[in-house]
Amino acid sequence: MRTLSDLIKPSVRKLAAYTLTPHRTSIKLNQNENPFGMPESVIAEVERRVAGRDWARYPDFVPVELKETLANFAGWRADGLLVGNGSNELIQALMMIIVEGGTRVVLSEPTFTVYRLMIEVLGGEVVNVPPKADFEYDMDAVRETAVKTNAAAVILCSPNNPTGKSVAESDLRALLDAFDGFVIVDEAYYEFSGQNYVRLLAEYPRLVVLRTFSKAMAMAGLRVGYFLGAPEVAIEIDKAKLPYNLNFFSMAAAQVAVEQYDTALKPLVERLITERERVSAALAAADVFQPVPSKANFMLARTTRLAPKQVFQGMLERDILIRDVSKYPMLAEYFRFNIGTPAENDAALAAFSEISSQ
Ligand SMILES: *Cc1c(COP(=O)(O)O)cnc(C)c1O
Repeated sequence: MRTLSDLIKPSVRKLAAYTLTPHRTSIKLNQNENPFGMPESVIAEVERRVAGRDWARYPDFVPVELKETLANFAGWRADGLLVGNGSNELIQALMMIIVEGGTRVVLSEPTFTVYRLMIEVLGGEVVNVPPKADFEYDMDAVRETAVKTNAAAVILCSPNNPTGKSVAESDLRALLDAFDGFVIVDEAYYEFSGQNYVRLLAEYPRLVVLRTFSKAMAMAGLRVGYFLGAPEVAIEIDKAKLPYNLNFFSMAAAQVAVEQYDTALKPLVERLITERERVSAALAAADVFQPVPSKANFMLARTTRLAPKQVFQGMLERDILIRDVSKYPMLAEYFRFNIGTPAENDAALAAFSEISSQ
């Protein structure tokens, strides 16, 4: 007789699930969220719009208004745009239409772990091209490997979680010119980098851009992300995506957040960028943990005298949560933390200095 585990695909059985230990601290710098929270003006307007909405009725089948708004906001066509329940849902749906047993996908690890998880659940194979020693993408190697292995896709996160490094336009173009598979650029943190690749979509139909409302847009709790790409690809992803994936509350919140982006959210993004530079400079000057220059709202820092786990624990004892990323490839001596409010950053810097002088 077959056992229960015989009934599960071997490709899934061998995986470890994506997890995060739930610690509660006053200062939370472990998930790259917007520390300022959603501005009151957005919350008030969303509550006004959803008041009286009948909970018993399904949301819109296609969020037409939100798609139009996002298309204008991003500078791309609405028929090449899909909205998802977080961008993770769209990563999954995209992998579902590309990856089957043996399909190769090129990644540059350390990167977002969900990519590998989705690829392997579907029976695909990750071809990893590590970054250079300074964590910049090795785009010559990515391009050569993608071509040589006849990969179906390359996934690049720009800026990359957890390294904070971006892909340069010339490198992205060289990849798109040489490689005939999909090139997926995850722009989860593009707001903090001053750079995005939407303008290349018209030129390269195999380019896909993914975005989220979970970071700069201060909506991680509401789960909204979007896909930008060729309409032909959007049609295929629609087949793999669940119907009614976006609830009416999140739909309204995303709508208002975009409408008020310039006045309510952009100033917060600018403050986070300023803070990132301040914290990075302060950490470098203190000369105990070496920050890795980042284009995102988080950064890696290297710890040689103390183990990353000890830094994590020391911060936890001071009521601050950071991320121990030492299990990621190449990051045995690193931890990651995101930029908080100015007061939170001061507290984190003080805590780092205490821990390092213990
Ligand atoms: C946080 C993050 C996301 C966001 O995922 P959601 O499902 O939209 O919350 C996507 N990609 C990367 C690399 C991230 O770090």
